[in-house]
Amino acid sequence: MNNNKMKALYFDGSNLNMVEREIPKINENEVLIKVIKAGICSTDLEIMKGYQNFEGIPGHEFVGIVIESHNEELINKRVVGEINIPCHECEICKRGLTKHCRNIRTFGINNYDGCFAEYTKLPVENIHILPDEISDDYGTFVEPLAAALEIENYIEHDEKISLIGDGRLGLLIAMVLKIKGYDFLHIGKHEEKLKISKKMGIKTEMYNDDIVDEYKYNFDSVIEATGNESGLKTALDICIPSGKIILKSTFNKKINIDISHIVVNEYHLIGSRCGDFKKAIDFIRMYNPPLNDLISCYSSFDNSLKAIDEARKKIKVIINLL
Ligand SMILES: [Zn+2]
Ligand SMILES: [Zn+2]
Repeated sequence: MNNNKMKALYFDGSNLNMVEREIPKINENEVLIKVIKAGICSTDLEIMKGYQNFEGIPGHEFVGIVIESHNEELINKRVVGEINIPCHECEICKRGLTKHCRNIRTFGINNYDGCFAEYTKLPVENIHILPDEISDDYGTFVEPLAAALEIENYIEHDEKISLIGDGRLGLLIAMVLKIKGYDFLHIGKHEEKLKISKKMGIKTEMYNDDIVDEYKYNFDSVIEATGNESGLKTALDICIPSGKIILKSTFNKKINIDISHIVVNEYHLIGSRCGDFKKAIDFIRMYNPPLNDLISCYSSFDNSLKAIDEARKKIKVIINLL
């Protein structure tokens, strides 16, 4: 490969292709990173279906090495990176709500190239050095783990809690809640995925048509992580009136729900997205969670198009770039 060129996956709005691109150039506030590993997330798969109308290099879960930075101390450090890139100038940023910046760009998701490439860049403020004791594999989980840990802000240990969804994020949330000592019911649709939860000692239940009747108005808090409309409908059915529904799914299309059902039952709908990277790094250090159990397979970068295609049926697929 030429010295200023790199291989990258590029989504042109309808197709994802392996292309040759210029290695990103950085300004004084950015760092250039050589990507070691990248994780495939459900959001990436939604992007291929049109989520955020994104065009560019997708991918936002990674571990890499800083190879260029105006801050010498970061050079050669192994890092992970936060995905929100705010403007710091709009009134929302000035109110301190930078992740909701009016001009937000999001790494690999919205208006900013991501990490399915040999090299990537991020603002220096987004970068966190990964402690040596955390492996590259585990490092790729920092971003989704931070999102999973956010849920703790909304639930209490003495509540009746249910988690719906046994995909990548659902299983990660299950792991976090179990380690943090919450008692909850995990509802899913895939026996082999729920098995992972069961193995951690979590109460699980396969979704079926009777489940709504069995648990009608049952839970104080329902965490919705299915990524589909029927999951959200189930959440609305099994949550106790005036209870909380914590939404973790991002959808590529608008969904149909009965608003009156929410009004009449006085539900609290809580949207929750990104979390605190420091907390996620500390969580891995402190609890050494069995994240390996969530890794379905690895792919070389050359085979990554196929890996992304097949990721829908898997839990976590990790692309090795180095
Ligand atoms: Zn993600
Ligand atoms: Zn802003």
